[in-house]
Amino acid sequence: MSPLSNLTEDEKMLQDAARDFAESVIRPKVREMDEKAKLDPDLVQQFFEMGLMGVEIPEAYGGGGGSFFMSIVAIEQISRVDASAGVFMDVQNTLVNNAFLNFGSERIKERYLPQLATEKVGAYCLSEAGSGSDAFALKTTATEEGDYYVLNGSKMWITNANEADIFLVFANINPDAGYKGITAFVVERDFEGFSVSKKENKLGIRASSTCEILLEDCKVPKENILGEVGKGYKVAMETLNEGRIGIGAQMVGVAQGALDATLEYTQEREQFGQTISDFQGVRFQLAKMATDIETARLLVYNAARLKENGKDFLKEAAMAKYHSSEVAENVTSQAIDLFGGYGYVKEYPVEKYYRDAKIGKIYEGTSNMQLNTISKLLLK
Ligand SMILES: Cc1cc2nc3c(=O)[nH]c(=O)nc-3n(C[C@H](O)[C@H](O)[C@H](O)COP(=O)(O)OP(=O)(O)OC[C@H]3O[C@@H](n4cnc5c(N)ncnc54)[C@H](O)[C@@H]3O)c2cc1C
Repeated sequence: MSPLSNLTEDEKMLQDAARDFAESVIRPKVREMDEKAKLDPDLVQQFFEMGLMGVEIPEAYGGGGGSFFMSIVAIEQISRVDASAGVFMDVQNTLVNNAFLNFGSERIKERYLPQLATEKVGAYCLSEAGSGSDAFALKTTATEEGDYYVLNGSKMWITNANEADIFLVFANINPDAGYKGITAFVVERDFEGFSVSKKENKLGIRASSTCEILLEDCKVPKENILGEVGKGYKVAMETLNEGRIGIGAQMVGVAQGALDATLEYTQEREQFGQTISDFQGVRFQLAKMATDIETARLLVYNAARLKENGKDFLKEAAMAKYHSSEVAENVTSQAIDLFGGYGYVKEYPVEKYYRDAKIGKIYEGTSNMQLNTISKLLLK
């Protein structure tokens, strides 16, 4: 058995490419994108050119033909430099592409996968103002009319909504049937009755767009149903089970980015006539940060390997997301402490890592929801 962090040739290649891309192309834009709360449009294009938006999409559909694990290591490397760029590729790969690959009809795959691999951004629209953790209480409806379904309602908190052209929207075709009415629809940005509305002004991952979506008599052709009618809850659940491994990777990247900046800083900053990294108190804090990050990384890699090998991974994925978001919050907070006053200002990178870490405990299932899943599986 090989160690969890032993990467195959292909995994290592994508990891290196993502790291180089993040350092040379993304790093110089990070501060401005955070201040403007906008992803640089050139970057969107470059993500496609790098093959980072369709890692797992088979080559026959224009994708990279890679593995789930490959997208995980790439998300980690991108998030080490910028968590907004990280979630941009994360949503595309682990939620949208994943759902299309697992549940799409041949027609849907042929029509949308080549676009998602090469030019079009996707978004995943499940949450609403009144339904977050209780996602299946969603109120958006879909009514059958001839060859179409007509969608009405609104979605909230939709990542990538600003950049996206292809939206996976969950709506209920029969509210009386509860979650068994939920159905997944593929909606294009220019479909009649579809619009992207208010953009949120956020604490962290500011360059990642998070918007409200309005569906006002939005006409969606019947062939754009993803998976089976009334089985959208399955699409949502199964996709999110896998997606949260990606959020774990994002959080590991954020924590590692903060630690790397802190290692550099503590070896330069002098107090009492020596670099602060020479104080044992500081060295021990650095060692603890690195150890915590390694525990989170191993949980994430293990969950991804289990999934890739067709094994049960639900508990491990929930643990990976829960733990890595705890670690990211603690490590980025400690990073600020070790920068002293300089950690508190925007000229230095760590305050942003701290703000970016916070989202890990919220999206794709809050930490309490992860604990729910873990305990349910422990006690069953
Ligand atoms: C930046 C950002 C991006 C997002 N991107 C997307 C996206 O692309 N697509 C999408 O569909 N959604 C997205 N979301 C929505 C996100 O998934 C929800 O915010 C999240 O699931 C929590 O739902 P909520 O905000 O309604 O909180 P609530 O569900 O109201 O939770 C509030 C608190 O109550 C706790 N709680 C709720 N139920 C229980 C319970 N049974 N037991 C114990 N505690 C409980 C929660 O843990 C939390 O602490 C995004 C959110 C944000 C902030």
